Amino acid sequence: MSTVLGYPRIGPRRELKRALESYWDGRSTRRELEEEGARLRAATWRRLAELGLGELPSNTFSFYDQVLDTAVLLGAVPERYQTAEDPYFAMARGTDGLAPLRMTKWFDTNYHYIVPEIGPETVFTLDAAKPLAEVREARALGHETRPVIVGPVTFLLLSGALDRLEDVLGPYADLLAALAAEGVAWVQLDEPALVTDLTPAQLDAVRAAYDRLGALSARPRILVASYFGDLGAALPVLAATPVEAIGLDLVRGRVPETPLDGKTVVAGVVSGRDVWRTDPGRALARLRAVRADRVVVSTSCSLQHVPYSTAAEDDLAPELLSRLAFAEEKVAEVVELARLLAEGAAPAVPEGPAAAAAPDHVRPAARSPYPVRAAAQAGHLNLPKLPTTTIGSFPQTGELRRARAEVAAGKLAEGDYEALVRREIEHAVQVQEDLGLDVLVHGEPERNDMVQYFAEHLDGFAVTKHGWVQSYGSRCTRPPIIHGDVRRPEPITVRWAAYAQSLTGRPVKGMLTGPVTIVAWSFDRDDLPVRDVVCQVADAIAEEVRDLEAAGLSVIQVDEPALRELLPLRAAEQPAYLEWAVAAYRRATAVAADRTQIHTHLCYSDADQILAAIDGLDADVTTIESARSGRRILDAVSGYSRGLGPGVYDIHSPRVPSAEEVGERLAATLKVLPAERVWVNPDCGLKTRTYPQVEASLGNVVTAARRLRETL
Ligand code: GLN
Ligand code: ZN
Repeated sequence: MSTVLGYPRIGPRRELKRALESYWDGRSTRRELEEEGARLRAATWRRLAELGLGELPSNTFSFYDQVLDTAVLLGAVPERYQTAEDPYFAMARGTDGLAPLRMTKWFDTNYHYIVPEIGPETVFTLDAAKPLAEVREARALGHETRPVIVGPVTFLLLSGALDRLEDVLGPYADLLAALAAEGVAWVQLDEPALVTDLTPAQLDAVRAAYDRLGALSARPRILVASYFGDLGAALPVLAATPVEAIGLDLVRGRVPETPLDGKTVVAGVVSGRDVWRTDPGRALARLRAVRADRVVVSTSCSLQHVPYSTAAEDDLAPELLSRLAFAEEKVAEVVELARLLAEGAAPAVPEGPAAAAAPDHVRPAARSPYPVRAAAQAGHLNLPKLPTTTIGSFPQTGELRRARAEVAAGKLAEGDYEALVRREIEHAVQVQEDLGLDVLVHGEPERNDMVQYFAEHLDGFAVTKHGWVQSYGSRCTRPPIIHGDVRRPEPITVRWAAYAQSLTGRPVKGMLTGPVTIVAWSFDRDDLPVRDVVCQVADAIAEEVRDLEAAGLSVIQVDEPALRELLPLRAAEQPAYLEWAVAAYRRATAVAADRTQIHTHLCYSDADQILAAIDGLDADVTTIESARSGRRILDAVSGYSRGLGPGVYDIHSPRVPSAEEVGERLAATLKVLPAERVWVNPDCGLKTRTYPQVEASLGNVVTAARRLRETL
């Protein structure tokens, strides 16, 4: 038997994105949006059936997010949204007067879910309309399906409300009854939270939940799907409950040593987290090692984290293409493995070669101690106290985006595009000089994206045409694919930074993306440990640092906003990760001379283990988001011994902060940090803002910094 735990839903050509944005802009009706959703679901079921998949999932479609769908299913819609015109999208995106619910990363993926808001006042009541409608819709098309729902333990853990377990089990039980009445044979309850560290009390909750749901008389058979890692201590707990099937991630997790008597194991041997073909020999060996009543071949997790199909990629080298598998190809692999398993066939292909040796481990590299560097930089840069700067990007104009598309389509000459980029740099530099900023940037007009731009200029990376993956809601990214050793054939950003520096007497800050971020936002290769890949990228970035320095840049920023993205889910594995991640960063930056000032930027400030890691990065200046986290971050960084720029305003909103407001924030910062080390900057890059907003905001920032400087 064969199945998959879930499937992409944004549409092979991002049809859902377009339909959503059209509805949000008032260009189409809710009805038209529903019709597009139905078309996409029908196409998915048809395709899965054509590929020969045995058991089809349903309810894997969503207009925004599966966790939000589950909140609606359970009636957990906070009161303030209930009267909105469209409560679902009001929760997801906010309305004029209403902020949206919080959004955060789905485990260690780049998918983001909406965090349900559950308080003591939340009353759970079942609203099973969506999963029931999908079951009926599929049935009308000739497909029996297995509805997929986020399970109660994961739902509540992600909501920070596991104490409400008793109260949600009622609606879950009602749901199972409703599905049974509908003639549904199997339901899939997703419990990825079970692969994280669980306390004994949380394990008790797992036991209580599935003993209770398992004991219901009228219900479909239950598959509890775990993914993103090994179940560990949760496996024996689940195995002792009456659920009929357990889904195991056998790519990241191990084949259980003890037999799972009486259970079906849905064995995830085809990875839903990478873009590579599965080694059939290794997968079959794992499948055969599973001891259970029945084994169903499956994916390690939902395929929502990979693009639709490699068939659309006609620009990739055939050699690379032959190694790739996106969602459709992975489904075909699942089907083929199920056939081989049933036939008891010997794997045609022997186990692939072991991973290439990686002798050169991430060695921590070191510059002179900070005080030595700080003195060298002070003499060289001659900056005032409370120096002002920005995070890198300036507004990306429509003209620039259109021009990039035209170059790609062969409709605009490369030379004309470059002239446009130079004009943008001139404009950005002029604006910054007029505003009176101290450390300038070139504005990043040549970059479509802070990772893709580097991927396009490094060997070992491939960029796809249609390899879109949903990040959240209608937002998709097209992660580059790392398929070979990473090398920098030639300088990447140097000429743009040098051009900017040639236009001004003030220091310009060279702008690079850090090695962890480049790898975290790409599909990694599967034949080399991730830390070795990060290390190769670090070496490429180090070459760029050296060349920027040689071109006369005395300040260089290496952004690492994704430092925590690769953080392992299990606490025991986190320190080792942080150690090599930090070492890779230092390897990328330690080539800089003492008098060259290294900046780094992190887009968040809410993970304590990361705050500790910031220190390890050993950058001379760290800029960090803080406008939305306020005091907490200031407490956390008080006494930090190097340069620090907690953002003085939130760039996510078009609002222009007043000089007084910025001044108050700065004053608060000066209470916890000595003035010599405080930098004045916005929270993040300005690329999504407009020039008028940026000029007004930065003008007030400069005014506030100058006023405060006089009081020092
Ligand atoms: N230098 C980048 C920018 O300003 C940093 C973006 C980020 O932090 N994600 O756009
Ligand atoms: Zn940022």
